[in-house]
Amino acid sequence: MENKLYIKSYGCQMNAYDAARMADVLRESHGMALTADAEAADVVLLNTCSVRAKAEQKVYSALGRWRGWKQRRSGRIIGVGGCVASQEGEAILRRAPWVDIVFGPQTLHRLPTLLDHARTVGRTVDIRFPAMEKFDALPEPGATGPTAFVSIMEGCSKYCSFCVVPYTRGEERSRPLDGVLAEILTLARQGVREVTLLGQNVNAWLGATHDGQYADLATLIEYIAAVPGIDRIRYTTSHPINFSDRLIQTYARIPELANHLHLPVQSGADRILSLMKRGYTVAEYKSRIHRLRRLRPDIALSTDFIVGFPGETDADFQATLRLAEALDFDQFFCFMYSPRPGTPAATLPGQLPEWVKKQRLHALQEGLEKPARAHARAMVGSLQTVLVEGPAVRDPEQELCGRTSGNRMVNFPGARSWIGAFVSVRITTVMRNCLRGQAVAPQQLAVAS
Ligand code: SF4
Repeated sequence: MENKLYIKSYGCQMNAYDAARMADVLRESHGMALTADAEAADVVLLNTCSVRAKAEQKVYSALGRWRGWKQRRSGRIIGVGGCVASQEGEAILRRAPWVDIVFGPQTLHRLPTLLDHARTVGRTVDIRFPAMEKFDALPEPGATGPTAFVSIMEGCSKYCSFCVVPYTRGEERSRPLDGVLAEILTLARQGVREVTLLGQNVNAWLGATHDGQYADLATLIEYIAAVPGIDRIRYTTSHPINFSDRLIQTYARIPELANHLHLPVQSGADRILSLMKRGYTVAEYKSRIHRLRRLRPDIALSTDFIVGFPGETDADFQATLRLAEALDFDQFFCFMYSPRPGTPAATLPGQLPEWVKKQRLHALQEGLEKPARAHARAMVGSLQTVLVEGPAVRDPEQELCGRTSGNRMVNFPGARSWIGAFVSVRITTVMRNCLRGQAVAPQQLAVAS
């Protein structure tokens, strides 16, 4: 008893990574095993996200539902982590007195102590930002397949006017080079073939080296490409102002760097970019993409847009539509602006009605879907190098799933023994959310393309 852990994680890949590390840390300290069945659990952790609208209310109504869970057996513990926990802090204990632990993204490594405190002394809150202590304190990662996330920095110092991240995760802090490489060497020994470097603003990474210098992301990618076994490297999420010429040049030199870039643009109007405090113009964004495409003409490009930002005129929105069309994105994520409490944009004049935002969201999605579908259709008949990640969800007995270098999910018939290998797959069909194909030959590739 008292050794089953259930984690409900919301939001981005950083949160998914943090949730995995919560499980690691409590397995090491308390021998806790993860369960997918909340009723069997002794400890429940909610890893919250504050990106979506009304995030706080959603957390409180979720906590209302967990109250009954706690009452059904004595000794059960509820912990709330993530960005909403960081924002709300003590308020969570006041509004949901059945919660035992409130911790932030930077204090998840202290969970063993917080858990002991909650069991012996009482309810507790720890939402500080203790620099890099988290990464030093976490146990060695345990690979769960051929792909792995590696968090290389925390926080963000860009202070975009719509975003809560700098307030919930603190300022940008990069992990030192040696620590990141040690983690990746461990993962490679455990069979990982592809790593995704994570950071809220990952291309701002500037890691201290053991000789007192600093290395940038381009240098880190070069080092990782030299790690035996690691044949594909991704990173997310990037900021256009840190998408440097050195990083762009890396695409020409490092074949292990995946043929995909996610670079959020947010708007196609300079006036709105300035109100968002993004720090670049549309022309600067385009110029970086053109330089990249000169080196990797077939690179798959994905982006984020926010529509309905305060003061966005119809002309501004038309500029966004034009940019979407001009840059021919492979994949996209569109969001309606919604004010986040405590951010400068929440009090800007010119807040738009919901119906306008919805209309613009719909129009932009329609505009972007056409080129995205055309990209997928153009892949039919092509040969793609797919890293096999596991059985396909739809037909796990017969089919496998994996990702192309350009970040498209592919399902195809194959043997379980191929999991963890790079396989050449001929694309045959475009499905709604993935591609289908036929394996040509499984091959352990030294260098993926
Ligand atoms: S760069 Fe990204 S994480 Fe940082 S403030 Fe802007 S939107 Fe938020």
